[in-house]
Amino acid sequence: MECRDAQFYLRMRRHAAYELGPDVTAPLDEHLSACPACAADAHAVSSFDRALASAMVAVPVPAGLRARLKAHGAEKHGTALRRKTYLAVAALAASLLFVGLGYGVFSHTRPKPDPYRFVVALDEQLEKPEESTQKWLVSQKLPDRLPLPFDYDLLVFRGYEKVHGMEVPVIVFRSPDDGGFAKVYLFPHDGRYDLKNLQEAQTSHTRAQVFVGQDAHRGVTYVFVHTGRDLQKFFRNRNGGVIGA
Ligand SMILES: [Zn+2]
Repeated sequence: MECRDAQFYLRMRRHAAYELGPDVTAPLDEHLSACPACAADAHAVSSFDRALASAMVAVPVPAGLRARLKAHGAEKHGTALRRKTYLAVAALAASLLFVGLGYGVFSHTRPKPDPYRFVVALDEQLEKPEESTQKWLVSQKLPDRLPLPFDYDLLVFRGYEKVHGMEVPVIVFRSPDDGGFAKVYLFPHDGRYDLKNLQEAQTSHTRAQVFVGQDAHRGVTYVFVHTGRDLQKFFRNRNGGVIGA
């Protein structure tokens, strides 16, 4: 079997395994055992499906359905009941999904998310984290760099968070040392928020520090929220040097 056929049957097996006879599954499995690329793909697909399946099992079962299943299962043995519950929950989750899809039929005017663009954006974030962040900041009409020397290899997220119902740009870094996070909220001085005298804050694990932008950073109030004592572990120069605010 060729890789292209293997890919095709892999996807078919995923959605309609019962359609495939042994005349296909045998060569497919043979190919998978000999082709590392397709095997890796099969593995990725099945672990994704497993994760989805366990998420579906976690869907709450409506009280009535649970009671009916219980009554029905009373005379049965455990495995059968679990299987039934699983199938019922899966069917329920599928029907919820279906309802959701059904609504989609009525509107043709909404924008359609394009996974390809997401892939390109994530590639760029991975390959040029600092440059792409600068571009992103500029596109938000913000100063093109943060006032602190963050290590952009630690960048995990940039986007928005709702604060009092309004979207605020946020950039998140993650420390390789202890898995801690540093979140930077950027509040432009555009009148949407009262930014006067924002107070620093602290709990036992997390601190918030406020920096009102000066000079190149004028016009923005930065709130740095981070785990740990200080921000040093998120900086480019992690192991030495004192960084002034
Ligand atoms: Zn292959």
